[in-house]
Amino acid sequence: MTISNTFWSPVVQGLVPYVPGEQPRIANLLKLNTNENPYPASTRVVQAITAAAQQGLQLYPDPEATLLRDAIARHHDIEANQVFVGNGSDEVLAHAFFAFFQQVGPILMPDISYSFYQVYCRLYGITAKAVPLDDSMQINIGDYAAIPEAGGVVIANPNAPTGCVLSLEAVEQLLQSQPHRVVLVDEAYIDFGGESAIGLIERYPNLLVVQTLSKSRSLAGLRIGFAAGQRHLIEALERVKNSFNSYPLDRLAIAGGVAAYEDVAYFEQTRQAVVQSRDALAVQLGQLGFEVLPSAANFVFARHPRHDASVLAGRLRERGILVRHFRLPRIEQYLRISIGTPEQCKALTDVLAQLIQLSEA
Ligand SMILES: *Cc1c(COP(=O)(O)O)cnc(C)c1O
Repeated sequence: MTISNTFWSPVVQGLVPYVPGEQPRIANLLKLNTNENPYPASTRVVQAITAAAQQGLQLYPDPEATLLRDAIARHHDIEANQVFVGNGSDEVLAHAFFAFFQQVGPILMPDISYSFYQVYCRLYGITAKAVPLDDSMQINIGDYAAIPEAGGVVIANPNAPTGCVLSLEAVEQLLQSQPHRVVLVDEAYIDFGGESAIGLIERYPNLLVVQTLSKSRSLAGLRIGFAAGQRHLIEALERVKNSFNSYPLDRLAIAGGVAAYEDVAYFEQTRQAVVQSRDALAVQLGQLGFEVLPSAANFVFARHPRHDASVLAGRLRERGILVRHFRLPRIEQYLRISIGTPEQCKALTDVLAQLIQLSEA
């Protein structure tokens, strides 16, 4: 059915929206398809949200989310005025694209990366230039330095959906090669491996680092993301935000976010559990014949030389396990598998072993 579009603004007719991973309404499916954390949020987060719900919901939240920005700044040893918060990092990214990337030159991004970047470009009429990953699916910084007239650069580090990470030295090379344009580093998965570039913001006026509480802090349902950068970059984001929605973070999110940073022990415990499960899963998938890219994230990206990825994804789904498969050039033979608890990982490898042995017997 085509929907009548005579009422739409012309720009809306050209939009190609992002398609999130399936959020099924069926119970008992094992969801390894959207990189959520397998562990629940800290009980301290739940207590803080409960307390916040019992007082003050009739009042607007703090438009500056001061307590949360303070907590984030303390954690990263920066100033609160170097922190911008938004309703999930997707919103922060959208504001950053609007604030910095509407330039004459094209925005550089890896050909394989978080597909939302292309969506923001279309939304804001920004030209994107895809820079191919090398043959081992790595970002090659030299390729970016070689494009002088860029309007900006966006990379995910670790990259999605590959999981591969760049060293801090490589990120610094990128910053030095594009000194007149904003370099946005999306660190959605940095807590699972790699070194954050937030420590570099003091030295690089063109660096904006974006992080989220959705993955490593088990808060995908609360919607909190932030950007860290020098004051002039944060000011630009504030201008966009205050021209769009004064209160992107509600009282529950502010209270829950603060509590998440207070519970250091739980954060360390759960992220280490995910890292251990990831490394064990990579070994087990290797034993089943998969080629697994080295991952610094809470997922692995793997392909099997003798099994079609979309067939495998379909068979897994029939057995109640969701993984992500992208029908895109270069990666259509890969599966992106989010890291579950050890029990969930075992359920996955048990089913995969059956599927592979059945068809190879
Ligand atoms: C999950 C993810 C995001 C979005 O995170 P939210 O804070 O939940 O909006 C941004 N970037 C990448 C690379 C992601 O994987």
